[in-house]
Amino acid sequence: MPDFLRDLAASLSVGSLIADPAEMAPYCIDWRGRETGRARAVVRPDSVEAVAGVVRACAQAGVPVFPQGGNTGLCYGAVPADDGIVISLGRMSRIRSVNRSDNSLICDAGVLLANVHQAARQVGRQFPLHLGSEGTAQIGGLISTNAGGTGVLRYGPMRDLVLGLEVVLADGRLWQGLSTLRKDNTAYDLKHLFIGAEGTLGIITGAALKLLPAVRARADAWVAVDTPMAALELLGLCQDVFDTRIQAFELLSRSEVDITVATVPGARTPLSSPSAWSVLIELGDTDAQAPLNERLEEILAGAMESGVVRDAVVAQSMSQAASFWHLRHSVSEANKRHGISHTHDVAVPVSAVPAFIAAADAMLSASFPTAQSVIVAHLGDGNVHYIAMFSREAWAGIENPAQSVEDLQTAVHDIAARLGGSFSAEHGVGRKLVGEMARLTSPIELELLRSIKSTFDPTNHLNAGVLF
Ligand code: FAD
Repeated sequence: MPDFLRDLAASLSVGSLIADPAEMAPYCIDWRGRETGRARAVVRPDSVEAVAGVVRACAQAGVPVFPQGGNTGLCYGAVPADDGIVISLGRMSRIRSVNRSDNSLICDAGVLLANVHQAARQVGRQFPLHLGSEGTAQIGGLISTNAGGTGVLRYGPMRDLVLGLEVVLADGRLWQGLSTLRKDNTAYDLKHLFIGAEGTLGIITGAALKLLPAVRARADAWVAVDTPMAALELLGLCQDVFDTRIQAFELLSRSEVDITVATVPGARTPLSSPSAWSVLIELGDTDAQAPLNERLEEILAGAMESGVVRDAVVAQSMSQAASFWHLRHSVSEANKRHGISHTHDVAVPVSAVPAFIAAADAMLSASFPTAQSVIVAHLGDGNVHYIAMFSREAWAGIENPAQSVEDLQTAVHDIAARLGGSFSAEHGVGRKLVGEMARLTSPIELELLRSIKSTFDPTNHLNAGVLF
């Protein structure tokens, strides 16, 4: 083992450093198995001091550092790109404190999202961020990507749920910003720079999170509609009545439902006949007596009469609701199993979602006739995952795959941009979209962003190659 690694291993608790290539392999490949990187070693520190020590040693030796959480990111941001050290936060998994009166929870960065949910539940509170990877994604990774998920419509993305942070800086010093204050106007709010920074400005080791009152009444409905425009009309009808009690409003194309039902055990369509589009609605109220099911049934019956909705089922039990969500949360796994899927994560104004889908579908059938359009959207916040799905045989027949991926991506992102949208709604930029970042970001914005990066990490050794 080279001297640098031997010294690093000696400074850490036993078993914290992995240098065996086979053991390192899972840390050097992305969730879809498409992007592989290289590392000198993977370090799994068990304390804030250990993280700081590794970062300091790497900074002094000029060795690149790559922070990694659950490695569920979809833009290759956690895959090491150079011969550096992966710092995997998984052993830092302690819930440090929960305060019901402050509505706050302080935890290590390596805590799994599902464990934060459980800790909040134990004191009659909730942490309202939900996504398909919640059993694997870590708080530090979720903050670093400013993750969204299905509850953004009501609760906002991760950025809205963070009260304070503890961060190891590029030179190994610690910024202690673990405040649970609701108000603090002392100059720039530094935590917001680290949220969504994808590990390029510092390594998050701890977080103070907002908790909210637990939802005690819920209603979930699976609704068939003919078009995205009808789904949008239904969203408006629901907003008129339920306002912020709408917790999720998800749109799925028939292709997405069919693929998920065919590939994921236990995934079933709630309605007997297939529909072109499905909407999954979740309502929640802190008042256990709120008659959400009855009101939702009335709204859906009215929408059926007026032709907005074709068919609908309101869950009659928690297990029925769970089966709706099992289908929804399994789509990424299903797409991975089904074929070669090229996913785009765009945001457009909510009103422009139908126009975006129509334009993207027209482009796909004209330019990529062997691809199938597969769509899952957080419709309530204008976030469309537009997926071009190729069968493995069709993909094998594509002459220049790398160029095709780029052409497809350019076309989809340009449609979003024409509608006032973004090429990255919730997954981040990572290494995957660095070219798009340069192409679609204004020069002045890029200049400001680069100047922030060089202030925090002047030697560019934290997650180099991500974002820029
Ligand atoms: P990683 O993938 O390990 O890392 C992500 C980025 O953060 C990398 O750049 C990494 O370097 C950096 N990073 C990680 N930990 C730290 C740290 N402690 N300090 C500094 N930088 C760090 N995303 C959504 O937004 N909404 C969804 O609905 C959604 N659904 C998903 C469903 C599935 C099945 C899967 C596999 C992924 C989904 N994702 C979704 C994407 C992914 O789960 C999120 O991006 C998540 O936030 C990544 O967390 P992670 O811990 O896995 O981070």
